[in-house]
Amino acid sequence: MDIKYIDDMTANFAGKKVLVRFDFNVPLDENLQITDTTRIDNSLPTIKYLLEKGTDKLIIMSHFGRPKGERVDKYSLEPVAKYLAEKLDSEVILTESALDSGINTLLNLSTPKIILLENLRFHPEEEANDAEFAKALAKYGDVLVEDAFGTAHRKHASTYGIIEYFRNKSFGGFLLKKEIEALDKIVKNPVKPFVAIIGGAKVSDKIKIISRLITNVDAMIIGGAMAYPFLKAKGHTIGKSLCSDEDVSLAKQILNSPSGKVKIKLPVDHLVADNLKGKAQYCETADIPPDKMGLDIGEKTIQIFENTLKDAKTILWNGPMGLFEKPAFAKGTLSIAHMVADLDAFSLVGGGDSVAAIKKSGVSDKISHISTGGGASLKYIEEGKLPGINALKFGV
Ligand code: AMP
Repeated sequence: MDIKYIDDMTANFAGKKVLVRFDFNVPLDENLQITDTTRIDNSLPTIKYLLEKGTDKLIIMSHFGRPKGERVDKYSLEPVAKYLAEKLDSEVILTESALDSGINTLLNLSTPKIILLENLRFHPEEEANDAEFAKALAKYGDVLVEDAFGTAHRKHASTYGIIEYFRNKSFGGFLLKKEIEALDKIVKNPVKPFVAIIGGAKVSDKIKIISRLITNVDAMIIGGAMAYPFLKAKGHTIGKSLCSDEDVSLAKQILNSPSGKVKIKLPVDHLVADNLKGKAQYCETADIPPDKMGLDIGEKTIQIFENTLKDAKTILWNGPMGLFEKPAFAKGTLSIAHMVADLDAFSLVGGGDSVAAIKKSGVSDKISHISTGGGASLKYIEEGKLPGINALKFGV
């Protein structure tokens, strides 16, 4: 069975109270100003569509930060309510809490149309997927819309348990649709050649995705700190570069697999320094001297990686090629970003740091899809499903 999305023929929102779950977990600065509104902006097509369809009330739910089950003022959704009101040019009421007794009164008034429930994670029951909590939230709506892709890998009350109360009355929103359609181009029959670029810091976090992808890809580029355990496993010296023994043994297993033996591309030169704050120096071989740490891929490696990518028709990228936050070590990541952007291929970038790197390179609009959910997108690629999505398809 496929998910029914809000534009499904059977969906009817006219005159209905529509409960919608988004992921408004946006970054704030110390003055509680939102520094990146992408996640809220991504929710606007769904909100506008529902309003156009004559919804009586929109009751919006989200979590925000990690308040650990109690009210913490800095995790209030107030900045989100303010931004939403501006963007929609409409009143947005933020409730005292998600279980505030005044909500029922609000639901029976003709205005405001949009009610934002205060941070769901102020209640420990949200993350515990508590049935009573899910039921209490469910009472606010006649219909449920799930559009929190970034949280769809979590079995929480508002992303999972609540779906049980909306049999045949729950729909996916437009963001969920966009994310799943893009990820399916990677997970189901990707157009070949398919090249994965895996970087970032921790092999153990990404080991599952590497082992799952290695059989499907035509080539796998491994850069960033991900590369050192692989280089060490192949007998190279890696100096003081980031690397744990556990990661080396995981890397060895992958390198020894039939696909691992032929598909993995590793750096052949590096930019190194004495430490994380040190000055960049060029290391012309794959072997890093004992007193240095690798912090970016070198020029020859960029050429090899670009050559591997040039004919690709599908590209998945997760994790930067070096310590890209420092300009001296950003060249590898930025060069690959420009190359990916210029190719005539379907490109999907996922994971917080990779998205930041793409934004830094200024080529975001030339990437086919930038996933809003790092953890959710990785899990979908690893397992081909997510609890929140499966519940929408088949029930809880
Ligand atoms: P991840 O969350 O696993 O994608 O890791 C991203 C982080 O890895 C970024 O903050 C990068 O600066 C860091 N990183 C990438 N390559 C290196 C490297 N060679 N040495 C140290 N940190 C790195």
